[in-house]
Amino acid sequence: MKRHVFSTAAFSGALIAAATFAAPAVAQERYITIGTGGQTGVYYVVGQSVCRMVNRGSEEHNIRCNAPSTGGSVANVNGMKSGELDMGVVQSDVQYRAYNGEANFEEEGPWEDMRSVFTMHGEPLTVVARADSGIENISDFPGKRVNIGNPGSGQRNTMDVVMEAFGWDEDTFALASQLDAAEQASALSDNNIDAMVYVVGHPNGSIQEATTTIDARLVSVTGDEIDALVEEYPYYTRSVIPGGLYRGNDEDVETFGVAATFVSSADVDEDIVYETVKAVFENFDRFKRLHPAFENLNEEDMIADGLTAPLHDGAARYYRERGWIE
Ligand code: GLU
Repeated sequence: MKRHVFSTAAFSGALIAAATFAAPAVAQERYITIGTGGQTGVYYVVGQSVCRMVNRGSEEHNIRCNAPSTGGSVANVNGMKSGELDMGVVQSDVQYRAYNGEANFEEEGPWEDMRSVFTMHGEPLTVVARADSGIENISDFPGKRVNIGNPGSGQRNTMDVVMEAFGWDEDTFALASQLDAAEQASALSDNNIDAMVYVVGHPNGSIQEATTTIDARLVSVTGDEIDALVEEYPYYTRSVIPGGLYRGNDEDVETFGVAATFVSSADVDEDIVYETVKAVFENFDRFKRLHPAFENLNEEDMIADGLTAPLHDGAARYYRERGWIE
């Protein structure tokens, strides 16, 4: 009898040991965070859309994705560097400068751990001016009230380069405000600024808001200074914003632009990035339907254009599996 009791205890002890041992085998949920931009821009939709594709497969890979609104490209670079963000959307010019440690990133030095994942839609530098402002080209900015953008944004980073090219500083303007992307349209409608600057895909909610509330025009961004920028930097290209996208703006508008790119850090697990790109490309038609700016995306350009940093190992693994790269 005594012996029997002993063996029961030993048996249940073994059960507990087995249960404890089995626990780590039940796959743990992993959470990833993607840095986007203002809620009325396109980056926010990129992040939300990528997460939607990833979360469709959560039962299999146990990855849960979220994509909060952020200050934009530069804020996303900083968030990935500090490990707060796993991935982020970043303008191709910002990617180049952050990876190489140039211009506004000179002080911090190159971020060599930056990794490319894929390229998204084109982003023309878009100037929207009040119809009563007298601004017809970016060269009319001196003496006007201009929102040059919040310091975490990509447009601010690009504007710094544009201002330098024109020989302008903040004193050139009657007002150089630093409002977030999502605040620009109402500032324009309330007549607190004459013009807003947004490096962004089209159509987007912010410019829709500005052009439907008041008479506002997309104006051209051209001239010798802009020609020189396009000539000097590999990531700038000439670009045309087609007419007819916004109320009162039926004509094409000439400007220059960059591409939105999706990046990560070498510190992020290969597996996580692999599952993320797989989720996007395996649901690609569904993904492209989530925003009109995604309509013309194609796989070939997405893994070739606008990427300065080396491909993330997880992305490269998936592209190799598909036979897209060697
Ligand atoms: N290009 C902008 C930035 O880097 C964001 C545009 C968007 O949110 O779509 O801050």
